[in-house]
Amino acid sequence: MPHHADRPTKVCAVCGRPFQWRKKWKDVWEEVRYCSDRCRKRRNPSANRSNPSESSGPSSMP
Ligand SMILES: [Zn+2]
Repeated sequence: MPHHADRPTKVCAVCGRPFQWRKKWKDVWEEVRYCSDRCRKRRNPSANRSNPSESSGPSSMP
């Protein structure tokens, strides 16, 4: 067995960078979509709910 076997790679769904197979993903590699936990947390569906136009008070109205 070659010491530098080619490992499978994927492209992160958040940052778009390719990442290599890791030992910790050996059981869930089919489900891995992000290169790191940081990218996985960035893809939080609740982050898209806040409306910036509603955060300010009504004092800006004349
Ligand atoms: Zn990423």
